[in-house]
Order: sequence, then structure tokens, then C-alpha cells
Amino acid sequence: STLIELRGISKRYGNVEALRDVNLVVQTRQIVAVVGDSGAGKSTLVHVLAGLVQPDAGSIAVRGETVKLDSVAKAVELGIASAFQQPQFCENLDVSANIFLGREMRQGLSMRDDAGMYAKAREVLNTLSTPVRAGQSIASLSGGQRQTVAIARTLLNNPSLIVLDEPTSSLSVTQTAEVLDYIVRLRSAGRSVIMVCHDLPNVFAVADRIVVMRHGTVCAVHATADTTYEE
Ligand code: ADP
Ligand code: ADP
Repeated sequence: STLIELRGISKRYGNVEALRDVNLVVQTRQIVAVVGDSGAGKSTLVHVLAGLVQPDAGSIAVRGETVKLDSVAKAVELGIASAFQQPQFCENLDVSANIFLGREMRQGLSMRDDAGMYAKAREVLNTLSTPVRAGQSIASLSGGQRQTVAIARTLLNNPSLIVLDEPTSSLSVTQTAEVLDYIVRLRSAGRSVIMVCHDLPNVFAVADRIVVMRHGTVCAVHATADTTYEE
């Protein structure tokens, strides 16, 4: 079924039309990859979904209901969580503390409930495709593990849609496979993912829809052959 629908989204920066009348649908249990040349509008598009960029025109509906996505907090409230290119971690804290960090800061809480925090972090870490221990130092993780932890961190907010900007950029082939494997697991767990991704062979391997952008518009949408997920 339809999870998110963007209709006629436009965004201008000075005289640059970053997005021009973009329509896009993300179904439940779907991986959507956004591809296109540098400057095509990919980041702007996913930033709109994440509540980071306010469009000048157009409307956004979540499960058929028109919403105002005017902040990251609002997006999270609507079930849209995001992780961006360079994950921000506190290198001197362990994995579980870093999993909690974003949420603690957003809610203005202190990290008081240590036992609860570790339990919840372990729950999130158990969803990973490779083992990462809650008490492990962030600095000891590989690039792929850091990225999977950054994505796993979004699960604290129980999102229906996870928005990722280049989750595999600057990763090795093995680490890229690890991250994409995790993204596929998230789909199996019933979530949708929209990601900017440059790596076409991998995009074709995992995405259900490939959205091609050019000069601020969606110029093609490709449905990969083996879309076996119910819509
Ligand atoms: P990429 O091409 O890898 O998506 P960019 O370097 O185009 O990344 O953009 C990275 C970030 O900088 C984005 O958040 C984008 O919104 C912002 N950005 C891009 N172009 C400009 C610009 N001309 N002025 C200010 N910010 C920009
Ligand atoms: P992509 O992610 O496909 O590289 P972007 O969405 O980053 O494209 O950028 C689309 C266009 O909008 C580019 O021309 C870029 O320079 C411009 N742009 C993006 N963000 C900003 C910004 N914050 N300020 C000014 N120009 C921007």
C-alpha cells in the first residue's frame, strides 16, 4: 500500500530549481533508490522527506493523509527517520550510548536509565546482520559497521520509512554488501527505505524502484523485475 506520496514538490535556491514539480510514491515494504548526476536534486529530495528542507510548493501525504513535514522531529513523529552521509558519533562513548544519543538529545533527556538504555540498544543491535556489541567502542567499528549502527539507530523511533543519503559511499565492496544486506533485512521486517545511492549494480540488486533524477525532475522510474513484495 502507499506509504508516502509527494505531489508537485518544488524547491528553489536563488535561481537554481533544485526540485521541479516532483511526484513520488513510496510503498510499504519497498526499497527505493534515487540516482542521477551530481546536482540533479537527489539530496534535496531526501532532505524534504526527512523534514530538513521545506519545499516551496507541493504536498506530502503519509498513508493518505496530507502532512506538514516542517522539521526532523515532525518527520520522526510521522514515522520517517533519517541517517545521513557521515554518521555523527561520540567516539569516546560505546555503541549503546551512541545509539541513544540522537534520541536523548532530541528529547532533552539525561542518560539516566542505564539498564534500560543497554537493553534497548541490545534489542536494536540484534537486528544487525553482523554482530556488534553494545559495550564495544565506536572507534573499533569498521566503516560498514559504523554505517549499519547509524541506520540501526533510527529504529529507536520505530520508523515506517528510513531515509538514507549515500549509505555506502566510501565503503569497500565487502562493507557495502554488509550495509545493503542490512537494508534488505529492514525491508523484510516491514519497513521502507529510500536512499540516494550511486552504485548501480548494487542498486539494481536490492532496490524495488529506481528513481532517476535529472535537473530537479524525476525523469524515469524503473521497477526492478523481481518485486515480490505485496503493495
Ligand atoms: P552531493 O552532490 O554529493 O549530493 P552536494 O555537495 O551537492 O552533495 O551537497 C551536499 C550538501 O550541501 C547538501 O545538503 C546540499 O543541500 C548542500 N548544498 C549543495 N549545493 C549547495 C550550494 N550551492 N550552496 C549551499 N549548500 C549547498
Ligand atoms: P544532488 O544531491 O543530486 O547532487 P542536490 O539536491 O544537492 O543535488 O542539489 C541540487 C541543486 O540545488 C544543485 O544545483 C545544488 O547546488 C543546489 N543546492 C542544493 N542545496 C542548496 C543550498 N542549500 N543552497 C543553494 N543551492 C543548493
